[in-house]
Amino acid sequence: PWGEAYAWLSTYNLIAIGGASPTVGAIGGFLQNGGHGPLTRWKGMAADQVLEFDVVTADGERQTVNACQNKDLFWALRGGGGGSFAVVLSTVLRTFPSPSMVSIIYIISAANETRYAHFIRDFIRFMPTLADAGCAGYFYMTDTTISIAFFVPNGDLTVTTAIIDQLMKNYTDLQFIQNSIATFPSFYAYFSETMAKSNPTGGNVLLGSRLIPETIIRNQPDQVAEVLFQTRGRSKNQSILIGHLVAGGQVSNTLIDNSVSPGWRTALLHMIHAQGWDDNTSAADQEILASRLRTQVNILQTVAGGAQSSCYINEADPNEPNWQQKFFGTQANYDRLKSIKKSVDPNGLFI
Ligand SMILES: Cc1cc2nc3c(=O)[nH]c(=O)nc-3n(C[C@H](O)[C@H](O)[C@H](O)COP(=O)(O)OP(=O)(O)OC[C@H]3O[C@@H](n4cnc5c(N)ncnc54)[C@H](O)[C@@H]3O)c2cc1C
Repeated sequence: PWGEAYAWLSTYNLIAIGGASPTVGAIGGFLQNGGHGPLTRWKGMAADQVLEFDVVTADGERQTVNACQNKDLFWALRGGGGGSFAVVLSTVLRTFPSPSMVSIIYIISAANETRYAHFIRDFIRFMPTLADAGCAGYFYMTDTTISIAFFVPNGDLTVTTAIIDQLMKNYTDLQFIQNSIATFPSFYAYFSETMAKSNPTGGNVLLGSRLIPETIIRNQPDQVAEVLFQTRGRSKNQSILIGHLVAGGQVSNTLIDNSVSPGWRTALLHMIHAQGWDDNTSAADQEILASRLRTQVNILQTVAGGAQSSCYINEADPNEPNWQQKFFGTQANYDRLKSIKKSVDPNGLFI
């Protein structure tokens, strides 16, 4: 898993482009479905970093897959789905010298919905400024609270502090449950202190996802903010809205030719509405929660490009209608993957 890969790489002062949780497998479903993470804005999607796969194909043959050999399979395995095309034994990934990290952590609570909505509006208006400053990270919205865990790889503490102050200066009336801006000498030092400590697994949760295009955030920030305000989580019904500022930057590099959903190439934010439930919730009530989740995703979709919007297959609602286009970005991407699947696994050995 990425926790171990990051630890090993750190002994060489290197990093690779992995996920935010230490338990996510490094070269399985995460990588083969695209893979976003703390450093993807900086260097591109995880799947963009693959130089070669060592695989066993459905005919039982061990094969090398790269830009010269088995080119179609190389294209498909970089974004088109784990478990579908071949068993991946190992992968050669690009590595990079580890950046230092400026970490920005804020947990902010507003006294009422009006003030909260106001802050969210300014936060989204400010998103392009943050993105242009190299910022990436995660935010979590519930009730009238927002938790922000952003960071700037190779950032400057003074510059970052000045940028964040621009956003926060009008909100001194809000309750700052936590606020800190600090520098870490390496990605691994940052990761160990923050993300490695959280392991959000083992609960009951259904996710619904939408990729929010960068042009919509830049041109219609107030509509985006209004939608995020509406679809935010409610602690009383175990829901949370999660924002991933992990796209844009190098993720938008359209010269890369792989099967990562084209929706990623135009996105800035990936939004997830997460709905939890207790073990003793009846099947009928779970259906109600699943349908409530669909309603929230439909609202998110209004600022995600409407019917043509897409989601992130690894964090998607399994009940998503029109999943071919939604999971794979476009019908054309899905159709090409399907034809490669037919040629490399004609008897459907893999699901
Ligand atoms: C706590 C948590 C945090 C997460 N954080 C992130 C994140 O930061 N970024 C992100 O992009 N996603 C994240 N995810 C989503 C994650 O990418 C998906 O859950 C992904 O499917 C995990 O892949 P896995 O290989 O670890 O899991 P698995 O469930 O083992 O595999 C998923 C699929 O891939 C196939 N597969 C696995 N290994 C191989 C292999 N070697 N060869 C071929 N097929 C294989 C399996 O058959 C299965 O179909 C997170 C998920 C969790 C639970």
